[in-house]
Amino acid sequence: MTVSSTSTTFVDRHIGARRQADIDIMLKSVGYDSVDSLVDTAVPNDIRQDVALTLQNALSEVEVLAELRKLAAKNKTAVQMIGQGYYDTVTPPVIRRNILESPAWYTAYTPYQPEISQGRLEALLNFQTMVQDLVGLPIANASLLDEATAVAEAVLMMRRANKNKTAHDGKTVLDADCLPQTIAIVKGRAEALGFEVEIADLSAGLPEGEINGIVLQQPGVSGRVFDHSAVIAAAKERGALVTVAADLLALTLITPPGEQGADIAVGSTQRFGVPLFFGGPHAAYMAVQKGLERSMPGRLVGVSKDDAGTPAYRLALQTREQHIRREKATSNICTAQALLAIVSSMYAVYHGPDGLKAIAETAHHHARTLAASLKAAGLEVLHGSFFDTVTVRVPGKAAGIVAAAEAKGINLRGIDADTVGVSVDETTTTAVVADVVAAFGATVSGDGEGFALEAAVERSSDYLQHPVFNTHRSETQLLRYIRKLSDRDLALDRTMIPLGSCTMKLNATAEMEAISWPEFASIHPFAPDSQTVGWRELIEDLEADLTEITGYDQVSIQPNAGSQGELAGLLAIRGYHHSRGEAQRNVCLIPASAHGTNAASAVLAGMKVVVVATAADGTIDHADLQAKIDANKDVLSAIMITYPSTHGVYDADVREICDSVHAAGGQVYVDGANLNALVGLAQPGKFGGDVSHLNLHKTFCIPHGGGGPGVGPVAAKAHLAPFMPGDANKAAHEDGYGVAISASRYGSAGVLPISWAYVKLMGGEGLTEATKSALLAANYIASRLNEYFPVLYTGEGGLVAHECILDLRELTAKTGVTAEDVAKRLIDYGFHAPTLAFPVAGTLMVEPTESEDLGEIDRFIEAMITIRKEIDQVAHGDFAVENSPLRHAPHTAAAVVSSDWNREYSREQAVFPVHHLKQDKYFPPVGRIDGAAGDRNLVCSCPPIEAFEN
Ligand SMILES: *Cc1c(COP(=O)(O)O)cnc(C)c1O
Repeated sequence: MTVSSTSTTFVDRHIGARRQADIDIMLKSVGYDSVDSLVDTAVPNDIRQDVALTLQNALSEVEVLAELRKLAAKNKTAVQMIGQGYYDTVTPPVIRRNILESPAWYTAYTPYQPEISQGRLEALLNFQTMVQDLVGLPIANASLLDEATAVAEAVLMMRRANKNKTAHDGKTVLDADCLPQTIAIVKGRAEALGFEVEIADLSAGLPEGEINGIVLQQPGVSGRVFDHSAVIAAAKERGALVTVAADLLALTLITPPGEQGADIAVGSTQRFGVPLFFGGPHAAYMAVQKGLERSMPGRLVGVSKDDAGTPAYRLALQTREQHIRREKATSNICTAQALLAIVSSMYAVYHGPDGLKAIAETAHHHARTLAASLKAAGLEVLHGSFFDTVTVRVPGKAAGIVAAAEAKGINLRGIDADTVGVSVDETTTTAVVADVVAAFGATVSGDGEGFALEAAVERSSDYLQHPVFNTHRSETQLLRYIRKLSDRDLALDRTMIPLGSCTMKLNATAEMEAISWPEFASIHPFAPDSQTVGWRELIEDLEADLTEITGYDQVSIQPNAGSQGELAGLLAIRGYHHSRGEAQRNVCLIPASAHGTNAASAVLAGMKVVVVATAADGTIDHADLQAKIDANKDVLSAIMITYPSTHGVYDADVREICDSVHAAGGQVYVDGANLNALVGLAQPGKFGGDVSHLNLHKTFCIPHGGGGPGVGPVAAKAHLAPFMPGDANKAAHEDGYGVAISASRYGSAGVLPISWAYVKLMGGEGLTEATKSALLAANYIASRLNEYFPVLYTGEGGLVAHECILDLRELTAKTGVTAEDVAKRLIDYGFHAPTLAFPVAGTLMVEPTESEDLGEIDRFIEAMITIRKEIDQVAHGDFAVENSPLRHAPHTAAAVVSSDWNREYSREQAVFPVHHLKQDKYFPPVGRIDGAAGDRNLVCSCPPIEAFEN
């Protein structure tokens, strides 16, 4: 055997087990003599792609960064004053470097395991508290995908929650001064669900007819601030619910919607320190009145207690969510914008109430100076009351003024031939104001006295009084606060996160670097095309690469998450059936084992869900499938299958399934969340799929961010291309595409350089090797653990795909030790739990990915085997399950050093069950959390500090 040279390629760094010696150990355990023979057995022959991926050859990190520099150089930064929902902001460097660019934050998973997520849960609770205070409503969630889709969620929520008999079925009315992208998104959703939307000038009062709910915007897209109290009162009088889309910075000066009687407030938190990112990712917020929390979409952080009575955070009211309620869920949103919500909350922690108010007052002052100067020059300023946005009537001259500003490096909003909008923000200086005034042919004069806010809308109430927003004033304090929170958590920078279906793989630093470069991060989504050449080239290139990888004909990266890709794909199917005069096709077949988002998305696409049973071996029950197809022949719209299935196996007869659905006139949706088991080996676009979504935050290395951002591209065959997501800022179908799915044309563009870089760094061969390595790692774990925890489903040759389900049910029946106990006990071993109870209750689903090295995989296996011995101790009666280290897991430092230790196992077994933990010990800050207690007594804002003192 030759000694191999030092690894030099990125592929060697991305794939964890690359040494032949390691590969041999794993192969031996699985019983194969080569990776290819294992892969050839596992992946059914009739779906294997026969040609290698034709992608550009792999580049090194240095080369990729050089290419990204070239693309960045093709973008042009400018002073961004377009507004329309997106405003420039300063990301405080301490937050940029230590959160946005810190793997301790960005590589974390969604906080479903609260004991290892207390840091990010606290940051998200700060976010909720910040939103509640600023909008004047008692309950806020922990982020939604973008402002326009948040309004759509609010509209759907009003339609669910309005209990007034006549108003319930009434229309939804949006104020004409709402953001145009919001109006487009709401109309698109309404069309699929069949309810009426009317756009009206609500400052002139309510339209006739029954009204389910209204949506106002404060300030409006025109910048106008008007007192909503009368129209809100009138709406309530008529039984309608009220949503206000509001700008949080403006609310530091303006009466909050909650104080004016609104039921729901929504909006974007982008301008709280999150870069423009060419349109996203940004966290949206939603806050509601008491009584609406159970029908609210999205995740909600609440306060509960751990087993020692210590206050502890966890996700509350999860029973609302799609992974439990499926087609009856409050929303299909799963991955949201956690990382961006955390950045925004820290921006409020950094500035505090006075700092935020000062930023708002300065922006307001500049806007008033601008308006006064233009008015003094004889121009018509459209609204007398505004916060940061001034709209000016300049008959016939708008284009010239916008061009004059652009020549000075300033982007204004050309609304139409006669109207120009200017939005001031945190970064606006006196010099910029002077340049803008000059572009209108005027000079700065006066101090804007004539444009004060009306007294009726001036805010008098306090906000952000909690100590967290008033303590961390020095950078040292804030740095330590950020560090303290991240130290409470387990993220990928400390341990393997073997979550089945979630594909927690390496997020390489070289992939991450470009996202905060100003030439990518500081670009407004509505900047002129001439300034975004590099961005669009990168996006087109990534879409082309994903097209090649999936075997489809077209890809749109617009959807902000997998769930949104599902909705986009299903709406494409719907559009296709309608275009063929088959509007009656509205039944969507979904296997019982599907991810909860599938059913929730189908409902949002106006479809009726029919569940297909699972056979004993985990595959789709063919007889049941055929029966459901026959029963729904004339109304069959689609089937949604996941491939490989959520059971972690390649069903051998997927082509047959696709054929029978096609034969009945249905379309095949392949949920591509498991694409990490397919890249380079098989293509959903070639084995029967008509449309798929991918998860770039799984397969293509965008980090999970503690629950977002994500990107859920939709990929489709040519016949569905005309129904792919259109641009929310173009009239529907004007661009030749279907309804828009996200507020901005390129969705969460800001994180696309990550996936772009990943594909370039790996090349076609590297990507294929990654897939094979993921299969090897999963099969190695399955083969090693099967005798301790039986692997529930296997395919050809007894092999699994890229993940395996460990069945605890028999052990649970025998000993009382549950899969949850094992998940919590793994924390004591320093590991994040595998996926718990999905897709089968009482099981754990393990997905190692290709990025874990053999040492880490072996540590995980050792932990699981040691835990199995502890379960045997329960079985043998060494201790009862209630007194076992399993049930008491995880163990805090406080619990084990307590002088009244009286457990039936030793302290050493509690915290050092395996030797190497003595060097590297993670102590969770809290013990096992009682979620139910927190749901009974819902607290979802920052508790008083005293709560933690004892
Ligand atoms: C993760 C996942 C989804 C949903 O993706 P999000 O980005 O969280 O919305 C859908 N289906 C499957 C099988 C998944 O694993």
